[in-house]
Amino acid sequence: MGLKHRYSYESLTAELKASERYYLSPHYAGNISVALVYPNLYGLGMSNLGFMTVHRLAGSVHGIGLERFFPALEAESPLNSPFYSFETGRPLGDFDVLMFSFSYEGDFDKIPGIFAALGIPVMASERNRHHPVFIAGGAAVASNAPALSLIFDALIPGEAETTLVPVLTRFLEEGLSAMSLTSIPGVWVPAAGLPMSPVMLMHDVNKQPAYSHIVSTKNAFGGAHIIEVMRGCPRVCAFCLAREIYAPVRPVDISVISNWLDQHPDCRDLGLVAPSLFDHPQIEEIFAMLSDRQIRIRNSSVKWEKLNPVILNLLRKSGVSGLTLAPETGSVRLRKAMGKPMDEERFISRTVELFAHGFEHLKMYFVACLPGETEDDLDATIELISHACRRAPTSASISAAFSVFVPKRHTPWHDQPAPPATEIKRKIKYLKERLNKLPGQIKVTFESPQEAVRQAYLSQVGPELAEEYAREAKACRENRLFSRNQFSALEF
Ligand code: SF4
Repeated sequence: MGLKHRYSYESLTAELKASERYYLSPHYAGNISVALVYPNLYGLGMSNLGFMTVHRLAGSVHGIGLERFFPALEAESPLNSPFYSFETGRPLGDFDVLMFSFSYEGDFDKIPGIFAALGIPVMASERNRHHPVFIAGGAAVASNAPALSLIFDALIPGEAETTLVPVLTRFLEEGLSAMSLTSIPGVWVPAAGLPMSPVMLMHDVNKQPAYSHIVSTKNAFGGAHIIEVMRGCPRVCAFCLAREIYAPVRPVDISVISNWLDQHPDCRDLGLVAPSLFDHPQIEEIFAMLSDRQIRIRNSSVKWEKLNPVILNLLRKSGVSGLTLAPETGSVRLRKAMGKPMDEERFISRTVELFAHGFEHLKMYFVACLPGETEDDLDATIELISHACRRAPTSASISAAFSVFVPKRHTPWHDQPAPPATEIKRKIKYLKERLNKLPGQIKVTFESPQEAVRQAYLSQVGPELAEEYAREAKACRENRLFSRNQFSALEF
């Protein structure tokens, strides 16, 4: 590795470190060294409360030296091999434990490139005690742990708050062996030959809500602090994984949020995280409290039926100028089937009201290629968007973002067929052609068909993924390609 590469890596990490404010700072040195890997961009990792929570928890264990690693610091600068830690520039392969935090199944595809750069076998069975211990957790592991079961030495499909400290403490007390973790509830050690334990311990979010203890101006919330205000969702959308893996519903009480704010008096801008924020039973009071404290609110998508004049005024007062609503589809039939009924006329009235309250942007989320979806259903979606545009003032900015249905394990629609690439492309073309003809300014975006097909594959694939990645890692080594998102050799 040339000095030039090292220099550019160090200058980029220095720039990113300068963008950070620390509210807790773990030790870099310890009896056991742990690299916490977020297999995606720095900015995404620093916006992810799962990653932050694991970092905070691991850093709280006395004797653990902890650093971060991101295989790409910025979109345009994926790293070249060899890989170095973010904090001290230590070679990644020198750490005792490599802990991966997977938020999306798509991030599994970073595995071959990272293992290839380290020169470490992808298959756990080919590694020995001289190699680091590999652990994986996060929402994507909760979704599909079997896919990683021949790659990682231990998997944590549940909530990190209940398992991580016992795992690291066990390593400190008994040495670095994944086998010593088998008796910890919520940890799966596939090589032990036991099935994945269904026992998932629940964290009490009111004792300690997840929050950003490092705030970077490069995070996806524009440099805001981030706090989790509710875990779980009370709704029943048949395609949704979030409601399954974060169950049961646990709102964080307003008094806990208020105490947290007292401890962070410099917080002027706050991202509120919850799968379904507006279902929080105290949401109006929370917005009012933030408005009183003159804190700018960054909120996720809105439940249109929860919008009322009080909430709209509070959001406007707190600096929110655009709202995102998620009707998912314009088809009454499909909304009923997915468990998300909606009164369309009332929905449109709410969009009118929000513009009347001074909001400038409306974004709507849709899912295309839902099970059983016909052209009539697509036409209904086009008509819903068209209706919203017709009723909006000419100055309004409206956008529609389409994702593609992916049947996820654990959800009621897990056994629905994944739409093939041909269907996705055909439906996107159909929607695009018709939405482009709508009068006025509407911006429409679609998920890439290739990514949707890949995601569906990664959501359902089993342990055989390890062999595919082992082959890919070999090809990466031969071609010295470590930094690209390594898609599999599958034909699409
Ligand atoms: S899609 Fe949203 S509202 Fe529906 S269950 Fe999932 S998190 Fe809840």
